Amino acid sequence: MTTIQDVTVSQMLASLAGTVCPACACRKKPRMSVCGDCWRLLPTRVAERLYLRVGHGYELAFRDAMYALIVKEIYLPEGTDARPDAIQS
Ligand SMILES: [Zn+2]
Repeated sequence: MTTIQDVTVSQMLASLAGTVCPACACRKKPRMSVCGDCWRLLPTRVAERLYLRVGHGYELAFRDAMYALIVKEIYLPEGTDARPDAIQS
């Protein structure tokens, strides 16, 4: 299980590219951080920061969004194993 604290940047990128909402496991559109239902639950200040690029605030915005949605476990696309981050800001 992947929690907000231990989700890696590479997992965030896999999630962003995938079609599984990390907050509720529903289907989402690729390149959207969360599904439409979760998006509407986000405070505007959090949602707008999800447009930031990785390395420019996205990582924090992603975690803030998961906290705002009171997510206990991050749902990741299948085959997305925890591994050391290759991408660093
Ligand atoms: Zn969702």
